[in-house]
Order: sequence, then C-alpha cells, then structure tokens
Amino acid sequence: NKRVILKRYVTGLLSEDDMEVVTTEVPPLAVVPAGSEAVVVKNLYVSCDPYMRNRMTRHEVPSYVSDFIPGEVLANFGVMRVISSGHPDFKAGDLVWGITGWEEYTVINNPESLFRINHPKLPLSYYTGMPGLTAYAGFFEVSKPKKGEYVFISAASGAVGQIVGQLAKIIGCYVVGSAGSDEKVSLLKTKFGFNDAFNYKKEPDLEAALRRYFPEGIDIYFENVGGETLDAVLPNMRLGGRIAACGMISQYNLERPEGVKNLFYIVTKRLRMEGFLVFDFYDRYYQFEDEMARYLKEGKVAYVEDVVEGLDAAPAALIKLFTGRNVGKQLVAIARE
Ligand code: NDP
Repeated sequence: NKRVILKRYVTGLLSEDDMEVVTTEVPPLAVVPAGSEAVVVKNLYVSCDPYMRNRMTRHEVPSYVSDFIPGEVLANFGVMRVISSGHPDFKAGDLVWGITGWEEYTVINNPESLFRINHPKLPLSYYTGMPGLTAYAGFFEVSKPKKGEYVFISAASGAVGQIVGQLAKIIGCYVVGSAGSDEKVSLLKTKFGFNDAFNYKKEPDLEAALRRYFPEGIDIYFENVGGETLDAVLPNMRLGGRIAACGMISQYNLERPEGVKNLFYIVTKRLRMEGFLVFDFYDRYYQFEDEMARYLKEGKVAYVEDVVEGLDAAPAALIKLFTGRNVGKQLVAIARE
C-alpha cells in the first residue's frame, strides 16, 4: 500500500522533504472483519488543499482541525470506490467521496462521513474535495449577494475562486478577479467569463489598481489570500460592504502572520467581515450538488483542474498551491477505476 506520510512538523515554506512516499508491507484488506461497520476503499483521486499546510504545524492550542502526526499517512478529501463493506448503507462497487488517506487503499471506520456520488456521468474527478461547496456556501450564505453588486475575488483562478466568480456572474454581479500569472488572468476573462481580471504580481500598487478596476468601490470581497491583499481591498470597499473570509493563503507558511493595517475601514465603512468553514455547510451539500451538476451540464459553469499522476507526484503537487504553480483545482489521480 503506497502512501504519503508526514516526515516532520513543518516550519516555513512547505518542502518535499517534509513528506515521504513509502510502501507498507501490509496488503490492503480485501474483506472487512466480521462485526465491523468499516468500509475498505480504493482511492481514485485525492485532493490537494491549502489547509493541509496548517495541519502540518504542531499547535500548542488546538486548531480547528487536528494536526497531522509525523510518521502517519496524510489524510484529505478524495474520490473512492468501495471494495468491501461491513456497513449496511454501502456495498462493493459504490462510488463515494469524503476524507480518506493519501494512499492506495484505506479502511474507513466512520463511513457515515462519506458522501454518495449522485451524478456519475460528470467526470469523477470533479468530486475531489470541497471547493465547490465552499464557493457556493461562502458566496451565497456569507456574502449575501444581490444582482448588480461589485465583486472582487483573490486567488480567483483557483479551485474556489473560479466557482465563486462564475456563480456571481450567473446572478448578475460585476466580477473582477486577481491571479498570479497572465495565463490565469486569461482563463478568468475567457473560460470563466469574469468582467475583468488582472495579474497582481504586475501591479506595484494594489490599492491603486483596485481603484481603477472598481471606480465605484467593491460591495463583496471574497477573501482567499489575506495580508497585503486585504490591506489593499479595505479602503476600496463600499459603505456596507461584505467580506467573506474564506482563507488567507499568504499567511500559511509564515512563522509570524503579517499585521493588517487598514482594519479601521471596517468601522468607517460599516463593513461586515465574516469567516466561515465549509464543514458548517454540509447540510447543503446535496442541494449544491444538484444545482452545480445542472450548471455544468448546461455549460453555465466551466471547471479547470490541474491533475498530477500518482502518489509519487503528490508532495510536489501540494507545494504548487503555495508557489502559485497550480492552474485550477489541484488534485492527484491514483487510479482511474
Ligand atoms: P487555489 O486553487 O486557489 O490555490 C492556491 C492559490 O493561492 C495559488 O495558486 C496562488 O494563486 C495563491 N497563492 C498562494 N500563495 C500566495 C501568496 N503568498 N500570496 C497570494 N496568493 C497566493 O486554492 P483553493 O481554491 O483550494 O483555496 C483558496 C483559499 O480558500 C485558500 O485560502 C484556502 O485556505 C481557502 N479555503 C477555505 C475553505 C473554508 O472552508 N473556509 C475551504 C477550502 C479552501 P495565484 O497564482 O493567483 O497567486
């Protein structure tokens, strides 16, 4: 059973040396032990997500998810095929998604946590992870958008950002995204239909750039990056604007997070900044799945993925998220069926 383990707690920028691909001698369980309600899955795709970096730090005060333990297999969302089951709701052959190991086969002791795949005609890889639900819940439930509002999205071509932007377009918002390469900017403007987009790495003064792109100000900022980006956004917000704080990836590899200087604008512009975690919205999942499946079938939403092949390539793929080298949703294909 090939697997990726955490070698040691990580400090600073994540590197390939912090992880190791190993092969255990233990053969995969073909049959669940009698009396157990566990299921054994074959992992087809696993997701690379920025929050995995947070789990690689040892936290003195417990974090919102448990820390990974050095020597143990990494875990995250994946798409799996059940190969044997002791649980009455699952049988061999079922396709599911949920938390699994970064390995070929995993025994899942709490199969109640798994989600069924109800639209198997969509590419199976589209079920890798939770960026779609994050975008859907964060945009509709947290930012409470209205038609015609001005929306800015950072890390806009990524897994979450691309979906937020397209949902915002569907309901008639004016959408601008920032991204870290010209290739990504072009994707935003063509494939994803944003009204405009720019390469923030080419803007010496981000605050001034946002003033140009939003002469009337920003109603909704979908925050994926934090740090300097948030500082540049705050003075550009409109009165009563909303900031959906989804993530702050610019801070995840820093030993000391940066200070944000412009927070007083929250007071003067009567802003609402609200953080959220996708885990809080799992009860909306099947509603989201049906709606998104319809958009994909109707061609109203496009989805760009960055797929690497095999677990050997997984550590480098995870690091791409922090260097901006992923283009779209980063995932690892372990097996196709
Ligand atoms: P992406 O697919 O967007 O990949 C990460 C991107 O972040 C990179 O491609 C890069 O894009 C950008 N980035 C990386 N480092 C920096 C930096 N130092 N400064 C500025 N930009 C940087 O990832 P996801 O869509 O999966 O995640 C986006 C955000 O959403 C993250 O903050 C993540 O933690 C958060 N998230 C939150 C969830 C929740 O429940 N609240 C759930 C899922 C994700 P570029 O080249 O454009 O700079």
